[in-house]
Amino acid sequence: MSKLKVSELFYSVQGEGRYMGVPSVFLRVFGCNFTCDGFGMPRGERSNERNIIAQNITEFKQYRDLPLVHTGCDSYASWDPRFKDLSPVLETDSIVDAIMEMLPHKKWEREHLVITGGEPLLGWQRAYPALLDHERMQDLTEITFETNGTQKLQEDFKLYLKNWANRLDREITFSVSAKLPSSGELWEEAINPDIVCEYEQVGWTYLKLVVATEQDIEDALRAIKEFRAAGFKGQAYLMPVGGVESVYSLNNKNVALACMKHGLRYSDRLQVPLFRNAWGT
Ligand code: SF4
Repeated sequence: MSKLKVSELFYSVQGEGRYMGVPSVFLRVFGCNFTCDGFGMPRGERSNERNIIAQNITEFKQYRDLPLVHTGCDSYASWDPRFKDLSPVLETDSIVDAIMEMLPHKKWEREHLVITGGEPLLGWQRAYPALLDHERMQDLTEITFETNGTQKLQEDFKLYLKNWANRLDREITFSVSAKLPSSGELWEEAINPDIVCEYEQVGWTYLKLVVATEQDIEDALRAIKEFRAAGFKGQAYLMPVGGVESVYSLNNKNVALACMKHGLRYSDRLQVPLFRNAWGT
């Protein structure tokens, strides 16, 4: 029996990237190696929104009661230790029970599993095999890991994933949201072409870079060049910044135009216009 610290587990429509529009179960695990406090802030400044929310932590009894933020990481409660009590540690059996309960036919049909975070490829790599080997998970055919692209795959996990995807109807995807300077993270820590190229040995891998300004787009082009120089073959998407509609709708068209200009793919954030990015969507 294995355990995961689960921030959110919900059924929705994938709003971003390659599988946009696909009904998906989202498993959001706790923990991240970054903070991304720079999102939505002028360069060099850091968001203070989650710190203000943390001052009133006792007001929030469950994850979905937490306020959405306009700046910084929009899933702050999935890694900030001050919110850790809102993410229970669950055994594999309980997670599988909850997944079956939310699937429309109480078993996997063609729905997708998205393992997200936080950063889902931190220490949890050792826990996923028990989940995926569970007898009621055998009809699952497609998994996406939504990662920031900084975590090496452990050799045994890499081998496990390759074996898992050996079945002809199965596919693994790595959606790599490498963090640009607009996130507030350092380039040399956030841009890791060698690690991401290794994901390509295991599954279909693409970059999903969050941008707002011209400067962000220049940074994205520079990052893509570094990935290509290391041998990265996958697609590169640009996605507009904005966890709330007022921010997202300010720049989504500009991002689409930039994609057309530079021959890149556009990724929407369907969860913002469809569900206002509410928790559990
Ligand atoms: S890497 Fe992702 S989850 Fe982690 S702080 Fe940045 S935006 Fe949030």
